[in-house]
Amino acid sequence: MQVEFHGAAGEVTGSMHLVLAAGRRVLLDCGMLQGRRELEAQNAAPFPFEPASLDALVLSHAHIDHIGRVPLLVARGFRGPIWLQQATAELLPVMLEDAASLAESDAARANRHLDPGQPPQQPLFTRQDVASVLPLLRPLDYDARATILPGIELTLRDAGHILGSSIVELWATEEGASRKLVFSGDLGPRGTPILRDPAVIEEADLVVMESTYGDRNHRDRQATVDELGEVFEHAWRERGNVLIPAFAVGRSQELLYWFARHWDAWNLARWRIFLDSPMAGRVVQVYDHHHALFDEQAQAVWRQRPSPFRLPNLHITASTEESMAINSIRSGAIVIAGSGMANGGRILHHLRHRLGRRETHVVFVGYQAEGTLGRRLVERAPWVRIHGQDHRVNAQIHTVGGLSAHADQQGLIEWYGHFRGAPPLVLVHGEDRAREALAGEIGARLGAQVSLARPGMRRTV
Ligand SMILES: [Zn+2]
Repeated sequence: MQVEFHGAAGEVTGSMHLVLAAGRRVLLDCGMLQGRRELEAQNAAPFPFEPASLDALVLSHAHIDHIGRVPLLVARGFRGPIWLQQATAELLPVMLEDAASLAESDAARANRHLDPGQPPQQPLFTRQDVASVLPLLRPLDYDARATILPGIELTLRDAGHILGSSIVELWATEEGASRKLVFSGDLGPRGTPILRDPAVIEEADLVVMESTYGDRNHRDRQATVDELGEVFEHAWRERGNVLIPAFAVGRSQELLYWFARHWDAWNLARWRIFLDSPMAGRVVQVYDHHHALFDEQAQAVWRQRPSPFRLPNLHITASTEESMAINSIRSGAIVIAGSGMANGGRILHHLRHRLGRRETHVVFVGYQAEGTLGRRLVERAPWVRIHGQDHRVNAQIHTVGGLSAHADQQGLIEWYGHFRGAPPLVLVHGEDRAREALAGEIGARLGAQVSLARPGMRRTV
């Protein structure tokens, strides 16, 4: 069995690894590069393999940095089956159609200002390309073992990162000998809300593991949640509003879950709460189909508290008109809107409208990458540019740090530590500083042979 690393091999985004075994070619993930403009420009480049030569694709979860180039792969010739968990199969069209709409409108906007003779910009992919992906999907339940190709078997295990997120177990049998690869996908932290903890796996010949937070440990989650309650109290006393930039899948549902759990303590009945997202209604439906995947505590919250997605004062605003109407509310509104790093999406018009007011509270609940508006606000920029205009920042900016959807260094070491015999480990999906720190710790504590994936690197087991 050989594994070639073609993405998230030196950075966090663009997850993509090719497995060559039993005479077959199986791709794990086909993600989009995200972040700096130069990096994103690479998404349109040719794949480092012939898409039509692949026999199957396995997807770990529905985040765009793991599935975002699937429509391109299909448009360029891939026709094989796409294996993924049931909930991931339902989230995938929601995520990809949203990405296609954004790409189409970005291209249309760029093409309005073309110089004479300049070729028009093409979207990376269209909604039509997304439609071509859907007939190839082969949903699987967690823990079921499926023969996906002659000599190749697959099981998806709960990774506890977002709904449907999976750890991939892949067995290849060739001339009577069997080898096993475990790919962690993205691993959630232990005790993450709504979801179960990552599945424990004990056997592998090679482990490929993410390392996003390989160099640090998270703050205590309860302290973070308490801080959130304090912001609401403070904002209410000032007759203000609260804006929370958050990703449409995962973090938004988690926030509503905390609201339901602290409904009385935070006196939330007095607020108007908006989940302002064109995708949110569809994502909530997917969650509602999969209560069986929730952990016990979440199932109890859904039974015994106001239902997180049906809070009596929650408005899920799908249309642009409804979203714009929120601007006329003077005080008492909590608005959750994407994007999570405020580098696009509806949160921009809320920020533009409200940043100038002292009584506005902006709460960041996730990682803010360099170069994003979120990062500028977190770093206390006095002025920021939104849609080509400068805006004074008088609002109060809060960063609550303990709600990560990724395992921290301790969590990663523990998860790997369950494997018997310390199998060789390749670290992906992390910046070099994080990977080096994690490799050092795991090498010293568990005696494992650890390497850092580089683009084009190949491992044989
Ligand atoms: Zn992810």
